[in-house]
Amino acid sequence: MVSRDPQFDLWPPRILVEELDARAIAGARTRVQAMFKVRYEREPGVHQVFFDHHGWYCAEHGPACKAVREVTAYRERSATT
Ligand SMILES: [Zn+2]
Repeated sequence: MVSRDPQFDLWPPRILVEELDARAIAGARTRVQAMFKVRYEREPGVHQVFFDHHGWYCAEHGPACKAVREVTAYRERSATT
């Protein structure tokens, strides 16, 4: 059994994933193929998640950032619907 904060279960924080236009931001010749903005309701700040030839990574926290997982999950969801 893993003990969990019951409040967390009742009110999961909303995660806002927004796709940005990589070319509009970084220029038409950018090697960035996708750019996302991820915001956690209960946390200050924004994660900027990029996809380029290195793969997915957060501008601030690198490839291990949890926001990277949100974006890849978001992309899978939108690909199947
Ligand atoms: Zn991050």
